[in-house]
Amino acid sequence: RCSAMPIPEPQFDELYRELILDHYRRPRNRGVLVAPTQRAEGMNPVCGDEIQLDLRIDCDTIEDVAFRGQGCSISQSSASLMTECVKGRAIAEAERISAKFRAMLNGEKPDRELGDLEALQGVAQFPVRVKCALLCWKVLEEGLSQAKNERKEATA
Ligand code: ZN
Repeated sequence: RCSAMPIPEPQFDELYRELILDHYRRPRNRGVLVAPTQRAEGMNPVCGDEIQLDLRIDCDTIEDVAFRGQGCSISQSSASLMTECVKGRAIAEAERISAKFRAMLNGEKPDRELGDLEALQGVAQFPVRVKCALLCWKVLEEGLSQAKNERKEATA
């Protein structure tokens, strides 16, 4: 939990709050993959959030994704929302969305392509919580760059 020290809780729109809580209580794509091509993990020591991510990437497409982890509702719901968003997408698309999500949390207006991820826009006002929401995306980016490096090595 994020209660080691007082961390401000963002206020979300009612609709967004419901969506975030729903992903927290019933996380999508939680678990392990049988045959992942990539595994990555990360933590956010400020809050105590942890995320482990399995990816199955085939021909530059994220065929399957699963996460495990613990931490605050923002970090875990963000991971659930992320997996829903990137599953079935090309690596380049996922990277583009990751950049747009980051931009939103830096205060930019959310891009339409973000879809449900827009629910986390309110986090932008709380820099200490931005790390919670971005953790899973950092881990995803690491997994994707692993995949790209392996591909480069294979074709070199
Ligand atoms: Zn957190």
